[in-house]
Amino acid sequence: MVISQNIVAVLIIIAAVIVLFFVYYIGRLQGFSPKENNQKTGNTHNPVFSRDVVYLEHEMSTLKTQIYNLNELNTRYFNFSQNLTEVVKQLYSSLSFDEIISTITRLINDIINTDTIEIYILDIQDNVLSKAEQFGKEINESVSYKMGEGLIGKTAQDEMIKVRGQMYSSFGDKNNKNEKEKFLMAAPIHFKDRLLGVIGIGNIKHPTGNERTLLKMISDIAGVAMVNQSHLKEWKSEAITDPLTGLYNRRYFTYRAMIEVEKAIRESTPISICMLDIDHFKHYNDTNGHQEGDRLLKIFSEQLTKLSRKTTIIARYGGEEFIVLSPDITKKDALVYTERLCEKIANYPFFNRDKQPLGFVSVSGGIASFPGDATSIDKVIKIADEALYKAKEEGRNRIIAHNLPSTFDEDES
Ligand code: GH3
Ligand code: MG
Ligand code: MG
Repeated sequence: MVISQNIVAVLIIIAAVIVLFFVYYIGRLQGFSPKENNQKTGNTHNPVFSRDVVYLEHEMSTLKTQIYNLNELNTRYFNFSQNLTEVVKQLYSSLSFDEIISTITRLINDIINTDTIEIYILDIQDNVLSKAEQFGKEINESVSYKMGEGLIGKTAQDEMIKVRGQMYSSFGDKNNKNEKEKFLMAAPIHFKDRLLGVIGIGNIKHPTGNERTLLKMISDIAGVAMVNQSHLKEWKSEAITDPLTGLYNRRYFTYRAMIEVEKAIRESTPISICMLDIDHFKHYNDTNGHQEGDRLLKIFSEQLTKLSRKTTIIARYGGEEFIVLSPDITKKDALVYTERLCEKIANYPFFNRDKQPLGFVSVSGGIASFPGDATSIDKVIKIADEALYKAKEEGRNRIIAHNLPSTFDEDES
């Protein structure tokens, strides 16, 4: 490896300097004994000797700095190679494009000491490269380059790594808006023969000469990660959602519930589970046809989503049955929110609503909470289902929260 060779070379130089220093020092001691020296100069101090010592000390300190820098680089490379497998795994399973951009940026930052890292994505319709938004950061100015414009555009056009110093002649043209090119190096992001974008990096502090190879390696990883992400996203959204309502399906709900329970235990927060079932839905289907029934299911799902927080997990649990997991919400608050939904559905102008047994379309629900009602999520779901059954028995169009006094006097979770 280049670094270890460098370190060995520096160590040999130091050893050589130390040996030379001692040979020189002993030679001096022999050639110029203090007595002899005093006789020659009439002085206890030899200026030639002192100058040499100062020079050697200076050389030693320069070498020490070089060793320090090499050690730092060595640590950087070591950490990078240690983390690489984990980062690549994370990149290839990521569903979020922003997350990929931020991970690639971090990866470059870990290995190349540069002041600027920007990733540009190719819009194939306009043939323009636009700056990708970085995860967690808001970018106000929207920066873009046309094909052949600046180092980014030239890299995209020629589909090969470009370095600023090697391209001065081609930047002479007056049409180039980037008179002050901020990028030092840029690499195309490819997948097979398809250009996806360009990674640009700015000035490099303490260049090692390996930057070109490293940037090429990271841009290759970025290409596979980006294509993989778009495929994963398509497959995943098909696999986890219910095609009619667009809500999560039951299988994905079970998986997410597990994650939420772990989080709730870690953070000592409650989870509320609400089971909802549309009342007399068979009657609605029989009266208005299956298609109208489907329409009702879609509208109901939209209303449910509209009333929920972003963190709420809603799934279609069965035909006209839905399950809602509200993280960090007490049973009392879940009841308030679900009753609002109940009221909204009762007032919604569904087609032929007046032909329903209650004179309108209604929903019933049961609520239970974790860990207050049970310490396993399956048991909490069962308790919520029993509360829903009770709501049906008591006349429908209502929500019953397990063990919650109707007066809501007591605080609980
Ligand atoms: P309850 O008030 O007791 O809940 O009565 P219900 O009629 O709503 O319940 P029941 O279980 O008797 O009927 C549910 C109906 O939902 C029967 C089934 O045909 C219908 N259903 C299930 N899935 C779908 C669907 O995807 N689309 C439509 N249109 N109907 C569905
Ligand atoms: Mg029903
Ligand atoms: Mg049902």
